[in-house]
Amino acid sequence: MARFGIFGGTFDPIHTGHVVLAVEIFEAARLDRLFVVPAARSPHKDAGPSADGALRVAMARAAFAFHPAIDVVSWEIDRGGTSFTIDTLLHAQTLFRDAEWTLVLGEDSVPSFPRWKNAAAIAKAAEVAIARRPSSGDASLADLRTALPGVRARLFETTPIGVSSTAIRARAAAGLPIRGFVVEPVARAIERSGLYRKEAPKPSA
Ligand code: ATP
Repeated sequence: MARFGIFGGTFDPIHTGHVVLAVEIFEAARLDRLFVVPAARSPHKDAGPSADGALRVAMARAAFAFHPAIDVVSWEIDRGGTSFTIDTLLHAQTLFRDAEWTLVLGEDSVPSFPRWKNAAAIAKAAEVAIARRPSSGDASLADLRTALPGVRARLFETTPIGVSSTAIRARAAAGLPIRGFVVEPVARAIERSGLYRKEAPKPSA
């Protein structure tokens, strides 16, 4: 049976940490295909995304254009509203009926995962592949297994890259270069659109 994965996030913007994580988990979890799914609006973040959905999808597509088996899909953007993983997983299962599913999570998402909408149903429908994240501290698999009995979860040592979208938005707002933090086409898209740039202060009279 084909092994398909889902990697969700806000990707505001997509950065090298996301790209390396996706590639390494794709390989280590022996997936046949990985779907990267930008959220319309994350239920886990207070503020909505800065960049609109179409632009976040376009940036993510540019970042993964090199990889033949990692596809960026607009399922959650098209659905709109708050993006719940259970809805995305059920949608994916109707599109591809004969696949085994793996949900890819950064380690910092693990402590809250048992409280996600229908977490038990997610855990039943998909394996969970957890990528270590440098800043996430000690999220333990044992805690997850206690909170969600029966969860099929594995932790993968991915190359630590301590970049975050928050830090990139802050750099762009401060007028600092973002090349190296994001891939080249994403840097160009951000610069061209003026995305994340605060309005320049008006010169004083
Ligand atoms: P923000 O700073 O806006 O909160 P973010 O950089 O954490 O964003 P998200 O789009 O929220 O990016 O992340 C999507 C997924 O990617 C999450 O599971 C998150 O844990 C993971 N992730 C993000 N950045 C990294 C990184 N540098 N290394 C490993 N995993 C990461």
